[in-house]
Amino acid sequence: MRWSKSHLHTLRDAPADAEIPSHKLLSRGGYIRKVAPGIYTYGNLMLRSLRKLERIIREELDKRGAQELLMPMVHPAELWQETNRWKEMGDGLLKFKNRNAHEFCLGATHEEVITDYVRKDVKSYRDLPVNLYQIQTKYRDEIRPRFGLMRGREFIMKDAYSFDVDPPAALKSYQLMYDAYQAIFDRLGLHYRIVEADAGNIGGSQTHEFQVLAEAGEDHLMVCDDQGQTQCQFAANIEVAPARDSQTASVDASSALPLEKFATPGLKTIAALAKSTGLKESQLVKTMFFSSNPGTDPQNKALMPIAVCLRGDDEVNPVKLKNALGLTNPPLLLTDEEVRQVTGASPGSCGPVGLKIPIYFDHALEGRQNFIVGANEDDFHLKNVNLDRDVKTAGQFKGFKDLRLARAGDQCPRCGKGRYVSKRGIEVGHVFYLGTKYSKAMNASFLAQDGSSHPIEMGCYGIGVTRTLQAAVEQSHDADGIIWPRAIAPFDVALVVLDPDDDEVMQNASIVERELQSRGFDTFMDDRAERPGVKFKDADLLGFPLRLTIGGRGLKEGIVEVVTRHDKKMEKVPLEQVVDHATRCLQHSGQKSSRAPA
Ligand code: ATP
Ligand code: MG
Repeated sequence: MRWSKSHLHTLRDAPADAEIPSHKLLSRGGYIRKVAPGIYTYGNLMLRSLRKLERIIREELDKRGAQELLMPMVHPAELWQETNRWKEMGDGLLKFKNRNAHEFCLGATHEEVITDYVRKDVKSYRDLPVNLYQIQTKYRDEIRPRFGLMRGREFIMKDAYSFDVDPPAALKSYQLMYDAYQAIFDRLGLHYRIVEADAGNIGGSQTHEFQVLAEAGEDHLMVCDDQGQTQCQFAANIEVAPARDSQTASVDASSALPLEKFATPGLKTIAALAKSTGLKESQLVKTMFFSSNPGTDPQNKALMPIAVCLRGDDEVNPVKLKNALGLTNPPLLLTDEEVRQVTGASPGSCGPVGLKIPIYFDHALEGRQNFIVGANEDDFHLKNVNLDRDVKTAGQFKGFKDLRLARAGDQCPRCGKGRYVSKRGIEVGHVFYLGTKYSKAMNASFLAQDGSSHPIEMGCYGIGVTRTLQAAVEQSHDADGIIWPRAIAPFDVALVVLDPDDDEVMQNASIVERELQSRGFDTFMDDRAERPGVKFKDADLLGFPLRLTIGGRGLKEGIVEVVTRHDKKMEKVPLEQVVDHATRCLQHSGQKSSRAPA
């Protein structure tokens, strides 16, 4: 392709809403243009990268027996009502009516549509296993679209769904897709981690996320730092990262002392209480209040309060709490007024003693004796609280559970030797073992060999295709622009022609262009009538792996300048050798990926 014939416009400045480098660079490079919040046009260069990524995905999935199809983007409400996700997904689904007042939504994910598709045709165990995928535009009405393609409202996803006869077979399908994802992200040259994760409202029991490590990532990860021989490699999204004590706060293990109420006027926070009592925040116990109402029935406005007690310096992990309570969405924190209704006091003076609501204790409190909590009376606390004597007797104690957010420094739950370090990640892929959640709800079953009927075992597997492209840029750029991994670079070579009006120069450039193309390389010639400085800047910004500069004084001496984008190393190569030289450079430019230790 030649620039003079293409619709490509680079910008000196990034749009005001671009906060992170990849969003800035893709906008400045003319790769993407915003249409509305979270909705973008992909320019020709972006589309070229997209097609390359799609091809890699297709190759790896087809190789493992998955089959491509294409489902509709507009879904009838009835299918989503069968699984109750019409309600559960809330405003995330963009719903609308057609001229006949039939309700529809835009596809945010396709479990319902695929399950409907499969149930119509699968009759017997002989029809299984099946693994189907599509690469398609999704729409999610994200509350806060941002960071360009990272969190769009409209975005491209590869979604795959597996159907099997039993759990072992389903887990085999799961493993196959897990392997495919590794192969895909390895081929892209990304630096990523595979982490344990929460299944969200998709449901299911086993799930892993593929997270590209980058400062701008929205996901918070806990990664084992063990570099020993076995290199534990444990990593989890903070949403589910098991929390073990980093340091056990000194626990008073002496025998129970008499319960005592004491005045704490104006002490509303753990920090203030710690200061006044001379204790560490970790030695205090705080109580938080949530509503366990699942919120899926708008008619049911009951508060359904619960209390969670945890160490003064810990925070409740809403996802762990959601899972402990068996809810589909994280429970909401009660307002100050609601806390007062439940306890008779404002939040700074509340505690578990005497409460008539379910009470959960975080694991880190195990073994505590004689601790301090709010007295459920404004400006008073209780000391020498004893779990058995003062809390359990009300009959609402629900036991110890892992409910806190893990932190850097916590012990690794897998190897027990390493400690967590904190990382940021961009979730580019997600694999789920679903079990029979959808097949049961939608009556997708098969007849086994003995004639008995069973719900089909399912898995689902997503890759954020457009997010992955931007994640690659986020991970690979410098101050001047993008540094595309070769596998998904829109073009392999930028041919920067310094004097496009000079026939001899253009003739030589065209020969190099043709020869490179005949060797299978994608070339992009900058043949604009622009100053060399402008062209070099744009070449750096666009970020193709190799730049050949043809023209000027160099060519008069029979020399072409070859610059590798990733290290900006420049070599002067005789014109007749430049195609061979470029070929060698490109063959070596596949940066290695790494699922490297932290
Ligand atoms: P997130 O936690 O980032 O909202 P998710 O867990 O809801 O994503 P999945 O349902 O697992 O997303 O979707 C599969 C993949 O689709 C994700 O791993 C991600 O790469 C991509 N994806 C999800 N939401 C978006 C979005 N708003 N914009 C771009 N890509 C997205
Ligand atoms: Mg996900």
